[in-house]
Amino acid sequence: MNRDMDRDMLGLIERWRVLRAEVEAAGASLLAVSKYAPDEAVAALLEAGQRDFGESRPQQLRDRAARFPEARFHMIGPLQKNKAKYVGRHAAMWHSVEDAATAHLVARHVRDRRLPVLVQVNVARLPDRHGVLPEQVEPLMEALRELPALELRGLMCMAPKDGDARRAFRDLRHLRDRLAGGSLRRPASGDAPLMLCMGMSGDWRVALEEGSDMVRLGSALFGPRATMR
Ligand SMILES: *Cc1c(COP(=O)(O)O)cnc(C)c1O
Repeated sequence: MNRDMDRDMLGLIERWRVLRAEVEAAGASLLAVSKYAPDEAVAALLEAGQRDFGESRPQQLRDRAARFPEARFHMIGPLQKNKAKYVGRHAAMWHSVEDAATAHLVARHVRDRRLPVLVQVNVARLPDRHGVLPEQVEPLMEALRELPALELRGLMCMAPKDGDARRAFRDLRHLRDRLAGGSLRRPASGDAPLMLCMGMSGDWRVALEEGSDMVRLGSALFGPRATMR
């Protein structure tokens, strides 16, 4: 490690300590979105005590799961069917479930465990955005119940880019509360409520105020993409 790298890693760890303290004080957890970060940054945070990392490219997730067996890598991006096996085999959690067919394919590759999953919701109903519309969440949850290899843990959303983040987060929370009050309680997992995974670098404090259980931080933690690669 050269001196500049050393300094970068110390800065990273310092940012991580500050961010993690604030996230955990709100009762939530921090997912370190390492998709654009180099291996050295993952190694440095792992050493400092971070366990959960987010990746959006299935092959990179597989490679890092092999390289860093003590870490948990979450799949957070859209998933093409031909990459389903990497997620089924190597992901600690799959955040971006949006159709039953891909879920079936992933489930086929899960061995000796249940893979925790989140349904991604297009709460703001934007065209061409990932996630299911709010009224499609219940039917998708029903379909997931047919797949014992997958364990539904909650809901995930991304706020609209230039829109009202608070409203999106609040809508997701209300949706979760409606589902929890209805017939679709999580099966076979006691009374644990469905979790909410929402909030990114630009809006995570708002997400915490609206009840997020897990924020996904990339650039706020690792720095802007250009400086990391
Ligand atoms: C890249 C990504 C993030 C992190 O984004 P930042 O704004 O850099 O924090 C969070 N969630 C998803 C789904 C992503 O793809």
